Amino acid sequence: MPPAELRLGLSGRALDFSGAGPYCLVCGAKPFAHRTIPCRDTDYALRKTRDLNSLLEWVNPALAYFNWRRKAAFSIDAPLCFRHFWRGLLGEFLVIGVFVAALVAVVVFWFKGRLSSGPSETGFFLKAGLIGIFLVGSWLLSRRPGRPVLPCEIRRESDTRVVLRYPDGLPTPH
Ligand SMILES: [Zn+2]
Repeated sequence: MPPAELRLGLSGRALDFSGAGPYCLVCGAKPFAHRTIPCRDTDYALRKTRDLNSLLEWVNPALAYFNWRRKAAFSIDAPLCFRHFWRGLLGEFLVIGVFVAALVAVVVFWFKGRLSSGPSETGFFLKAGLIGIFLVGSWLLSRRPGRPVLPCEIRRESDTRVVLRYPDGLPTPH
C-alpha cells in the first residue's frame, strides 16, 4: 500500500476521530484500551518558537532552548486493539514472570522446611536474589531498543491537530 496520512484532532492527549469512533491505530480493529505514546516533533517546535526564540536567544539562550524543548515534546493517547495493546510490553511481563517464579520457588523450599534450619545468610541471599531480578531485569529493559508501538510517524500540525504518516498505508476501520 502507498504511504498515507491520517489527520486527527488533539485536545490535551486525547485524539478526536471526528464522528467516526476511535479504532486501533495499528490495524483499525475495535479498540481495547488506550496507551499514552510519548512523541517529539522538533520541526513543529522550531516553527512555534521561532518568533519568541529569536528574541530569547538574544536575551537568554538557555531560556530559548527550554522553550523549544517544552514545545517539542507531547504525547497522545492512542486507542489500541486487544492484540496490539501488549506490543512492546513483553519484556515487562517476562521480568514479573521470573520474579513470581522465584518467589514461588522460595515458598516451596520454605514449605519443605529447608530454609528454617539453615543459617540466616540464606535468607539474606534469597532476598538479594529477588531484588536482583528486578534490578537486572529493569536494567536489561532500559538498554533494549524499544520497538515503536505505532507503525507511523507522529507529527504535529498545530496545537490541536496531529498528522500520522503511515509508510505502508492507513489502517482501515472494521
Ligand atoms: Zn490492532
